[in-house]
Amino acid sequence: MKLSHRITHLTEGGSDGWEVFIRARRMIAEGHAVTELTIGEHDIRTDQSILSAMESSARSGHTGYAMVPGTDLLRDTVAARVQMRTGVATTRNNVIITPGGQAALFAAHTALCDPGDIALYLDPYYATYPGTIRGVGAVAKRIETRAGDLFQPRASDIDGAAGGAVSLLINSPNNPTGVVYSAETLSAIAEVCQRRDLWLISDEVYDTQVWEGEHLSPRALPGMAERTLVVGSMSKSHAMTGSRCGWIVAPEGVIDHLINLATHTTYGVPGFIQDAANYALSVGQPLEDKIAAPFRRRRALAIEVLAAQQVVTLIPAQGAMYLMLDIRATGLSGDVFANALLDTHAIAVMPGESFGAAAAGHIRVAMTIDDEKFVTSLQTLCEFAAQLAEG
Ligand code: PLP
Repeated sequence: MKLSHRITHLTEGGSDGWEVFIRARRMIAEGHAVTELTIGEHDIRTDQSILSAMESSARSGHTGYAMVPGTDLLRDTVAARVQMRTGVATTRNNVIITPGGQAALFAAHTALCDPGDIALYLDPYYATYPGTIRGVGAVAKRIETRAGDLFQPRASDIDGAAGGAVSLLINSPNNPTGVVYSAETLSAIAEVCQRRDLWLISDEVYDTQVWEGEHLSPRALPGMAERTLVVGSMSKSHAMTGSRCGWIVAPEGVIDHLINLATHTTYGVPGFIQDAANYALSVGQPLEDKIAAPFRRRRALAIEVLAAQQVVTLIPAQGAMYLMLDIRATGLSGDVFANALLDTHAIAVMPGESFGAAAAGHIRVAMTIDDEKFVTSLQTLCEFAAQLAEG
């Protein structure tokens, strides 16, 4: 029986970039001790206070179908948070709650792209981006950013790719590079979007993890609120990856259609999860800071470790829970380096190539293990790179 082209070509039949991660997991299953610096999962679990809010909501009966667009309470809280952080007038009618940021990315592209439409995204990219775009039947068009520009996108590159495109997907703070887009970068992107009449999808799931500079939402730029869909999530900001709770903030007319889409796909997000998210957001900054603190600390430790050697170069880690390391001085690709590091030292990192050709010769290190082990793993990685560079 035939399956759809859309589903069979989601990853274009090629690698989806997770081979090293899968190999590491297989080694662990076979009883080997492997240090995993691969996926964006906190080494702490969801805070007990959030779980208490979840439990009391479920026990008090919020276990039936919840409102499809999200509870009024959570939509209001998200709207107020966005308005407070960006200054852009935002109400619950600008918000739909989704089962995580990933579902939000899929819904956003579904809302904007017809089959065959061109949807732009920037390389390096979060691994699911091209598949998400292909999943809605659109044509995923990659725009390379450059290591030499520290992965800040160039408006001229976006402009050059914009012919016939309907949307542009950006992500700041960025996974995998850790780069936070500057005010100049975002203004230039906004200018291209307006001149080329592009929708902008702004993935801001790491907006609470900014170590240098500040997070700016392009929705706040003049003329952008009416053409921007912001993707948010509780996953990274509140260590609620498994709860599957995110949102889209967009013009009301877009939200109306997204609600219709949700009615015919997800049918919303469990009420007790939304109540837990509402509680977590209501605690505000102190909880967000507590969850971001280990990454801030480890980033500082990494800067010290990397300063003590010359082979591995750190792309300025301005935000998010990852480090992007340039290992080109070893003469190896990111892929070969990551596999060799796993084989010789049982340390698993992600090859840059998993996130696109623009990150070739780099590796991504997730700062998701305890400080001491993180430092020794990074030292081992650097010594390994030095031996390769010498050899
Ligand atoms: N966007 C980016 C850039 C991510 O790194 C992730 C997860 O790692 C997501 C979106 C999806 O997160 P979630 O679906 O857990 O909200």
